[in-house]
Amino acid sequence: MENRKIRISIISGSSMLAVILLTIISMFLQDRTEYWMNQTTEVKFHVLEIYDLLQSAESTQRGFLLTGEEIYLQPIDDYRSLIEESFEELREKTADNIEQAVNVDRYESLCKFKLSEVDTTILLHQLGQKEIALAIVNTDKGERVMKNIDNLRQEMLAHENEQLDKRKQNNTILRILTMFFLLVAASTAGYSLYTLYRQVSPLVSSLNSAKLNLEKTVAQKDLEIEARKKVQIKNKQLIELLVAKNEELNHFAYIASHDLQEPLRTVNNFIEVFKEDYGEKLDDDAHEYFDFIFGATARMKALIEGLLSFSKLGKSGEFVEVDLGAMVSDVLKTIDAAVEEKNAVINIDHLPTLMCLPVEIAQLFQNLVVNAIKFTEPGKVPEVRIKAQDKGSHWEFCVSDNGIGIDPVGQKKIFGMFARLHLAEDYQGQGLGLAFCKKIVELHEGTIWVESGVGEGSSFYFTISKNLKNEEA
Ligand code: ADP
Repeated sequence: MENRKIRISIISGSSMLAVILLTIISMFLQDRTEYWMNQTTEVKFHVLEIYDLLQSAESTQRGFLLTGEEIYLQPIDDYRSLIEESFEELREKTADNIEQAVNVDRYESLCKFKLSEVDTTILLHQLGQKEIALAIVNTDKGERVMKNIDNLRQEMLAHENEQLDKRKQNNTILRILTMFFLLVAASTAGYSLYTLYRQVSPLVSSLNSAKLNLEKTVAQKDLEIEARKKVQIKNKQLIELLVAKNEELNHFAYIASHDLQEPLRTVNNFIEVFKEDYGEKLDDDAHEYFDFIFGATARMKALIEGLLSFSKLGKSGEFVEVDLGAMVSDVLKTIDAAVEEKNAVINIDHLPTLMCLPVEIAQLFQNLVVNAIKFTEPGKVPEVRIKAQDKGSHWEFCVSDNGIGIDPVGQKKIFGMFARLHLAEDYQGQGLGLAFCKKIVELHEGTIWVESGVGEGSSFYFTISKNLKNEEA
């Protein structure tokens, strides 16, 4: 279908070109014939003009010969030069026509002959030989010469008329041809335009509908951008609110945990005093109850201390440049006992030097490594690996182990406060370690997550931004 359209376009285009070419050629030829027709008319004009000028010269001659008044002779030089100019034109315009050129030569010599007779008689008269001059004029010789000139003039005019007729005929034919070609060119152009219109119009309408669609999409996008801007403003306000609430909550946790320590200490002290003063009067059951109370207050103390430390996170100091390799080595020294107890194998890849809160980051690594060693099946040698990867805008770290692993439900809980997946008898802890890790990572504009499966070990990932700056005072 497409090929056929293209073929039709090519054929109509080339035939239109051919017709236009033919039209131009026939217009050119028509122009040429008009030129030649003008040429013929001009030849006729000069032939007639020369004859008229010659007659005028003859009349002048006769006037002078009869009256002897010099005034008659005044225009004769003009006639002569006009005749010469006319012959020059004539020779030029008949140069392409040999037959007519010969006639012109003959015409000229006859005219010259006539003019020389005029000159001779005038001269004779001026020399006082009026009689001889009149005798020359009165012979029929001059009349015969004029007759010959007239005949030749008629012949030349007839020849030119014949030419003119032929050229008129050619001109008419060419005119008809030009009209015909013009008509054909116009109809071919019309047809080509129609075909072009038919091919282009579906394109135009599809372009129009594409434009409309685009306009609609742009309008929709504008609305979306507007809505997104509103959401962004709302989000910013919410974040500001959240930061303020967080600050408030931190402050509350600090105050609460700090102030709770005092009554707890009082309870503990009085129970100690009570046990000392009345211990001997109490039976075994009462002693057992006291142990429960001491255990509970000890746990409570640990929890309150944990809460207090949590609320203090991030207040330790400023971001400083730290060599993490050296820092992690120091951390391992502080947990040496736990490592040795389980014969844990710890591999550390090259770690970068970066800006961070050193106390908090040390605690982060310590919590993750301690957990990695702690949450292994009894009797299994813990294997821990610490890696770092440059991600352009931030560093990504991974602490992985070959421990008991965490199921998908547990993975969602473990970063919350006091979240524990095991009984205290199986694995000791307070469920605060990972909540600390999460808060520390967030203080470093990063995120923390775990990839794990039950019995397959766990990999804890976290990121630290490379863009950390201390807030100006
Ligand atoms: P804690 O260790 O004091 O119990 P955490 O916040 O450090 O508290 O950990 C929360 C819980 O996440 C743990 O009780 C444990 O069930 C689970 N968990 C943490 N680390 C690991 C690990 N490396 N392998 C398996 N489970 C883990």
